[in-house]
Amino acid sequence: MPMTRPKIVRETRRGIPETEPPGSRKLKPHQWFSTMEKELFEVRLRSSVPFDVYISSAAEKKVRDHAERYAAGRLEVLGFLLGEVCRWKGKMYTVVRDAATTELRSSPSNVRFAPNAYPKLFHQLDGSGFDYIIVGWYHSHPGHTCFMSRTDVETQRASFREPYHVALVIDPVTREVRTFRLTGEGCEETSFAIYAAEPRKSADSPRRRKLRLKPVVAH
Ligand SMILES: [Zn+2]
Repeated sequence: MPMTRPKIVRETRRGIPETEPPGSRKLKPHQWFSTMEKELFEVRLRSSVPFDVYISSAAEKKVRDHAERYAAGRLEVLGFLLGEVCRWKGKMYTVVRDAATTELRSSPSNVRFAPNAYPKLFHQLDGSGFDYIIVGWYHSHPGHTCFMSRTDVETQRASFREPYHVALVIDPVTREVRTFRLTGEGCEETSFAIYAAEPRKSADSPRRRKLRLKPVVAH
């Protein structure tokens, strides 16, 4: 995959900053949360324990719009989650600031990036003006509910094996969203909150590292 000086990476090995997560007044549950999920969200919000994942309202909307655009044909969508990894009081958490995708080969039961689509994706990412890292991926299960299939777990294990790597699964038909991460056996669900995003300047992040990606496929 030819590319020039990409600004994002799929993993980070050092320099996880001690940063306070978005304040509780900025947080809200996902609009598709069930009553029980909202209650769990409120309990977590009142505790002093950070959520595992914070997703900007802009990134959340991008993912949801993408999934809904393809929902009529019951087609799956796929993309990357971009952001950063932080630490607060000994706990690591992931911030998803943006999402990016490219041409897809999609069906009702699986999806992958189109051949030769990566250069276009990198161009889009470089144009974002930020040096985000890839903190995970998203894909949709139109009408199948949200879970990690065997193929999904294999993808997670091959390309998103770090504890901060997020797998977001969205069902635009049943209107559900869940996030997962890799464990020893498979994947476990993680907590997440939506935060009201503030505009950032492109000079905010000094990161500039090497990009390595393996094929990503979802089922
Ligand atoms: Zn899947």
